[in-house]
Amino acid sequence: MNLILLGPPGAGKGTQSKILEEKHGYKQLSTGDMLRAAISAGSDVGLKAKAIMDRGDLVSDDVILGIVAERLGKPDVSNGVVFDGFPRTPAQADALDKMLEGRGQKLDAVIEMKVDDEVLVKRISGRFTCAKCGKGYHDEFAKPTAAGVCDACGSLEFSRRPDDNEKTVRDRLQVYNKQTAPLVDYYHKKGNLHVVDGMADIALVTVAIENVLKGLKA
Ligand code: ADP
Ligand code: ADP
Ligand code: ZN
Repeated sequence: MNLILLGPPGAGKGTQSKILEEKHGYKQLSTGDMLRAAISAGSDVGLKAKAIMDRGDLVSDDVILGIVAERLGKPDVSNGVVFDGFPRTPAQADALDKMLEGRGQKLDAVIEMKVDDEVLVKRISGRFTCAKCGKGYHDEFAKPTAAGVCDACGSLEFSRRPDDNEKTVRDRLQVYNKQTAPLVDYYHKKGNLHVVDGMADIALVTVAIENVLKGLKA
């Protein structure tokens, strides 16, 4: 099963990808996480990407397609992939079609997660992540059960992203509307677009996504 979770920053793509990974064994492929790992590692890709990400622009299609192709070459993606934050431009979408075709695979569904802009800003402003396992939390909407302790791995360390501030989020939303939103139409025309209400509680969004998956198998 190859899925795309499509939606603006803060829509809940990472949260739901991790749930899908845990439930079904599909691998989350987050280009944002991969870029942040490259920055931490001080690699060439990371050096190129850092300033672009800090101001909320998109990293070049070439760089992104390079890291995605490399990731898809690993054996652990054979059960399927949840693409999170990729593709973000029509050129990336075209390239993904070709990459999957080359592997004898196809895209099973594109799930668009719809959330109002003001809610997105609130979600991004309160987002934090376990520094050890990457589980996502929110100051108000998704607190750890015990304050300061990761539910998933028990770690006491968390991190916040430098680009998760109100100013950059508004810029990222503009970038989304201009460069990524056209993909909604692209996938609608191909017939694999499914829309879920991303404003609902996390557990209800999971149910809506599961219903889409059930519909595919039916
Ligand atoms: P969010 O989940 O908040 O939308 P991401 O972690 O997906 O954020 O992306 C963070 C930043 O990384 C983006 O603002 C962009 O600079 C870069 N990035 C991630 N994925 C892509 C992509 N597919 N194409 C171009 N840039 C990307
Ligand atoms: P994305 O990967 O699309 O940028 P995340 O999954 O990181 O979004 O979610 C952004 C923030 O909003 C996180 O702090 C997360 O805990 C929280 N969040 C995710 N889904 C929901 C939801 N349905 N309702 C409320 N908060 C949510
Ligand atoms: Zn953790």
